[in-house]
Amino acid sequence: MESTLAPVAPTAIPVAPNVAWDKLADKVLAGVPLSAAEALSVLRCEDRELPALLAATYRVRYERWGNDVQLYYLRNAKSGLCPEDCGYCSQSKISDAEIPKYRWNDEETLLASARKAAETKARTFCIVASGRGPSDREVDHVVKVVKKIKETLPLNVCCCLGLLNPNQAEQLAEAGVDRINHNLNTSERFYPEICSTHTYEDRLDTLKAVRNAGMELCSGGIVGMGEADQDVVDLALALRELGVESIPVNFLHPIDGTPLEAVQKLNPRYCLKVLCLFRLANPQSEIRIAGGRELQLRWLQPQGLYAANSMFVSDYLTTKGQSPEDDYRMIEDLGFTVTGPGPETAAGIRAAEEAAAAQCGSHCESAGHCG
Ligand code: SF4
Repeated sequence: MESTLAPVAPTAIPVAPNVAWDKLADKVLAGVPLSAAEALSVLRCEDRELPALLAATYRVRYERWGNDVQLYYLRNAKSGLCPEDCGYCSQSKISDAEIPKYRWNDEETLLASARKAAETKARTFCIVASGRGPSDREVDHVVKVVKKIKETLPLNVCCCLGLLNPNQAEQLAEAGVDRINHNLNTSERFYPEICSTHTYEDRLDTLKAVRNAGMELCSGGIVGMGEADQDVVDLALALRELGVESIPVNFLHPIDGTPLEAVQKLNPRYCLKVLCLFRLANPQSEIRIAGGRELQLRWLQPQGLYAANSMFVSDYLTTKGQSPEDDYRMIEDLGFTVTGPGPETAAGIRAAEEAAAAQCGSHCESAGHCG
């Protein structure tokens, strides 16, 4: 029987320009830094180019990080009551957001939280406190807690405490803090649009103090606050200049009661381009999909891990994340693997040394002191 359906006119299938993105990845892999113009072209590429861009970016991610995904676990150790006026933040003095407000968690609460981090397969435990910067007493509190965590749990520790002076940074380094998080957040040009109580320069000073104290830098930004594409590029390149080891990329989660509550500039495809840009500009750095992942990437979350090699597990500071089980499933479905536990504990290292010394001493007289 003859078909009554009208023939479908053939349509041209747009071919994504794989070659261009592959060439860019080749350059990055050869150690040539991404230029500002190339960075902008990543952000502004057509959506139909996205699969090719992601495939090229994945080659760069794979070269340094394989298919590993590092998980981070956050503890909001002090919430709200902040005298600063960062427009995106629910904890600032100008926010009416309904969030829990409390002073510093005590030692046991923080240790319990660190144990939870280890249970949820996190490699790094992040102690975060609201405020312009810690008092010396607050630093003493963190020092005590960090020493105990490092003694007993296989975790890296990252602290996010606001502005730090050189002396505070040194104390934290001596306590065993691996990294300090202090986000530049956006470009130098756009910074005054989001905060008036401290400056971009203040933030750079803290990063300098952290570096001088010998700790690694964790610094990233928030995308979607009304900035221009050029600001996102400037941020990615500024972090490269600083040699930042770990870059959290947040996507604005507009919270009711904050000045940015009505800003809604993002779509998931743009978010993927942002992650590609940060990866290509910073091939050796950890790129972490941070706050706003579930809200802004939505169904495209897994694709984000072709560019990023890290993410937070469980909840954020004042917003909920998806369940750890959903995260593990996503990682497994991609064929990726959660990076194993962090460094050995101080107690574990000591026990291993004692065991080695005892074994050595059993067959020679130098009893473990043979070098
Ligand atoms: S300093 Fe930190 S806690 Fe305070 S308003 Fe800014 S981002 Fe929020």
